Amino acid sequence: MKFEVTILGSSSATPIFNRNPSAQALNINDHHYLVDCGEGTQQQMLRFDVKASKIDHIFISHLHGDHYLGLVGLLSSMHLNGRSKTLKLFCPEPLKEIIELQLRYSDTTLQYSIEYYFTNPLVAEKILETQDLVVESIPLDHRIACTGFLFKQKKRLRRLIKEEIGALDIPVEFYSALKKGADYTAPDGKIYPNRELTVDPELPKSYAYCSDTQYNESYFTQINHVNLLYHEATFTHSMLSRAAITHHTTALQAAEIAKITHAKRLIIGHFSARYKTLNELLDEAQSVFPATELAIEGKTFVIGEV
Ligand SMILES: [Zn+2]
Ligand SMILES: [Zn+2]
Repeated sequence: MKFEVTILGSSSATPIFNRNPSAQALNINDHHYLVDCGEGTQQQMLRFDVKASKIDHIFISHLHGDHYLGLVGLLSSMHLNGRSKTLKLFCPEPLKEIIELQLRYSDTTLQYSIEYYFTNPLVAEKILETQDLVVESIPLDHRIACTGFLFKQKKRLRRLIKEEIGALDIPVEFYSALKKGADYTAPDGKIYPNRELTVDPELPKSYAYCSDTQYNESYFTQINHVNLLYHEATFTHSMLSRAAITHHTTALQAAEIAKITHAKRLIIGHFSARYKTLNELLDEAQSVFPATELAIEGKTFVIGEV
């Protein structure tokens, strides 16, 4: 089952040094999800072959422009390209008014409908459940209402051992029960325990998107033991006071959070325009949490790979 994230934007505040504001595309079992949609996201999607027509769910963390100013353009392109499928949009409530205002003054009626799900910045909630996946909002600590998003695979069914199934000639109608853990009773009455016929499924994997926020233990429990943590790291730790004023995190703090919450891997992003190169941020984070990588645009991370 595919579970991967492609970085489309990694800059905070403004586009600079060929870095774009925040956006990421998740591919989960060939279902596509967009997380944040800063200015320039459409161009980045074209560049990295992320097809807008395949995106049915968009998640917006908060209403600072670097996280959503590309959204109305994308919604408009979907309309012009003849989209008819409903789009589900998970976002702070005022975004609905912002979108409707822009559509109203351009006299545009979208050819598809948008279903809005308003995030609550104060409470962690399950906001989406599909066959494969549960998505929870993560209340973060930012200057304005902001939530991250936690993507968790559901527990999968047990896997059949083909050779054993074939040797016993078990009829197909028993497969579903076997996958759920049942034993098999043969026509002669002999019972074959499930553990001889199936193996454990792959462990469910998880991805947490935490941007923007300052260091705050309140969300640590929720993101415990994720396979991959994306955490903003706007500044180096020498800028801690600036990080506190603007409600952002330093690279050192992001690494501490990954360590405390037992993340398997960390990606840092949302880099300040003051850093032309990113080595300083990476070195600082790796000094605390070696399994740290930079959110390089165009790079795809397989969740649960390590
Ligand atoms: Zn931001
Ligand atoms: Zn922000």
